[in-house]
Amino acid sequence: MTDPPQIPVRVRPEVAALPPYKQGRQAGADAFKLSSNENPFDPLPGVLERVRNASALNRYPDATAARLRERLAERFGVGADSVHIGAGSVSILAQLVLATSGPGDEVIYAWRSFEAYPWLAVVAGARAVQVPLAEGARHDLDAMAAAITDRTRAIIVCSPNNPTGPIVTQAEFDAFVEKVPSDVLVILDEAYAEFVTDPESVDGLRVLGGSDRPNVVVLRTFSKAYGLAALRVGYAIGHPRVLDAARSTAIPLSVTAHGEEAALASLDAEEELLARVRVIADRRDRLAEGLREAGWNVPAAQGNFVWLPAGEQTTAFAATFEEAGLIVRPFAGDGIRISVGEEESVEKVLRIAATVAAQREG
Ligand SMILES: *Cc1c(COP(=O)(O)O)cnc(C)c1O
Repeated sequence: MTDPPQIPVRVRPEVAALPPYKQGRQAGADAFKLSSNENPFDPLPGVLERVRNASALNRYPDATAARLRERLAERFGVGADSVHIGAGSVSILAQLVLATSGPGDEVIYAWRSFEAYPWLAVVAGARAVQVPLAEGARHDLDAMAAAITDRTRAIIVCSPNNPTGPIVTQAEFDAFVEKVPSDVLVILDEAYAEFVTDPESVDGLRVLGGSDRPNVVVLRTFSKAYGLAALRVGYAIGHPRVLDAARSTAIPLSVTAHGEEAALASLDAEEELLARVRVIADRRDRLAEGLREAGWNVPAAQGNFVWLPAGEQTTAFAATFEEAGLIVRPFAGDGIRISVGEEESVEKVLRIAATVAAQREG
């Protein structure tokens, strides 16, 4: 192994130290791509049609995606200023962290959680404070509350947690927010909210409904349940002035007219899309159950993915899945995340997982 070439210009040392971004492997023609929590269904024909007719490619999009903002505001019973659209909810996460946290400040989140969180803190120049997950791969909200200091500016709660799967309950979330100083931002990342079937789960929109929680911002996305990952549309709901701060750090005109139109068309076709979400949630439950029967200690799975705690054997086991045509997402030394994909992939995942379980040490 040779070292990568030197960076020819001066770069912030914390940025230079970041590993170059690596995307989940693209699957070959006959493999199932279960590595990025994508929706396995093709877009609805009606959505495609609307995108095709969206707008002229030589024109800039509407800077605030006003039609989509209005539509979501109406749907969730808030004012349009309480909705902010971004090119994926990851970009809104970045905006919120940049807006709140600079050098010397702290951003708290659970770990293991979404891979983007550590990167967001580093890029903002802030310090990442990672609070280990509790038993059952769940958020340890007491420990997260205990980690708050004078320098804490943002706290990210991910429910259901990517990549492990469990939700935070409404009661846990409410009790947690009570302990957070009212001038510290709490970001509730609900990228997988639509897949949740546990009635105890936190529901960000219920949190905001009461809205004595001006320091909470809820993030959702069209990438997962609505199957629009390629078009990059996510949204935040929260206090208009907090969202103004996010807007101030945004790269202008990132949300395309085509993304906005696809999101609007998806809301028009919501019943059909949510029927598919139920299919995926059922498939997920069968997958998790089958894996548990095969001896895997799979945590509560409430997103469109399941978690295999494979520990030190993660990399080897992921290679076995891959050889069988199943592209999964390994987190070295920790576990494997498997997205709920095509129906035909379920039986195959269960078969390989059973083989692999038999090779487990300890
Ligand atoms: C996928 C995901 C997102 C958002 O993805 P976008 O495509 O940027 O909307 C946000 N948070 C978590 C935890 C995710 O897994």
